[in-house]
Amino acid sequence: MEAIQENGLLDSKDIHQPVSAGEEDLLRVHSQDHVEHVRRFCEMGGGNLDFDTTVSSESYRIAKLSAGGAIKAAELVLDGCNSAYSVGRPPGHHATHNLAMGFCIFNNLAITLEYLRQLRKVERFFIFDFDVHYGNGTADMFYEDPDVMYISIHQEPRTLFPGKGNVEEIGSGEGEGRNLCIPMPPGSNSHDYRYILENIMGPVAQSFSPDFYLVDVGFDGHRDDPLSSIRLDDEFFTWIAVEMMDLARSLTLILEGGYDLDALARCNRNLIQGLENYKTMKEEYEKGKEPIDNSMVNRETRKIYESLSDIFSPYFDI
Ligand SMILES: [Zn+2]
Repeated sequence: MEAIQENGLLDSKDIHQPVSAGEEDLLRVHSQDHVEHVRRFCEMGGGNLDFDTTVSSESYRIAKLSAGGAIKAAELVLDGCNSAYSVGRPPGHHATHNLAMGFCIFNNLAITLEYLRQLRKVERFFIFDFDVHYGNGTADMFYEDPDVMYISIHQEPRTLFPGKGNVEEIGSGEGEGRNLCIPMPPGSNSHDYRYILENIMGPVAQSFSPDFYLVDVGFDGHRDDPLSSIRLDDEFFTWIAVEMMDLARSLTLILEGGYDLDALARCNRNLIQGLENYKTMKEEYEKGKEPIDNSMVNRETRKIYESLSDIFSPYFDI
């Protein structure tokens, strides 16, 4: 927040405090058992919910605030804001219907989506998740849902938690073709990401024609991050904000991972600058000031794109 405020990006009227999500909000996506287990476990002082999800006596309350922040961001967008970004923690995209995992207790994005669907009558959702880890919890919850398009770009799952998110995981039943995984090899950089996203995002969004865009933001693909082997630079986070705003025109963003604190501050600032100034920045990109250098794109990246193009050709023109 200091980095953002030092740069004069936000004044106080742009900053909203979250209202805690209610138990009824959590129960639209989580089992009663899971919610009760977390509540009681925290009341007893906390500990490890799983191998890497540690909680304290305050975590149940804080996790509900984090979910409430995501709902608040979506409400601001419904009320006419071009973009709203919830910077709550804990993150949420690994949390499944019944389990906390990967630092995630409740699935903030899924809770927001079901709130919008059931209370605000929004029908079709486009989710883009660029956290370096596959959002297995979110993907699982909507895997058979024809009205939710989930696209995740992440580090190749044989090399990173949670070990899922291969190109073949395309959704099932009525949700077939609605789960699109882009598994990037370790060492992939901003050129690789841009090449593949420019080829996929626009055509899928246009064809799917969503009513509402939700973005899971992760900074753990940054080259300084200790948890991954992806090599994104600071400018990627401006670029992705500009591209997503240009595509969607209104965006609700929800913070997930990012574990190098300096990179987190710089890249959050870049992301918000991109959201605020996307029209002029898009014009600059289009004038060719920041072209993609295709010679910098890895051969593996081109192969991933070709696989996706083959697998998804029955569903989208990519
Ligand atoms: Zn992550």
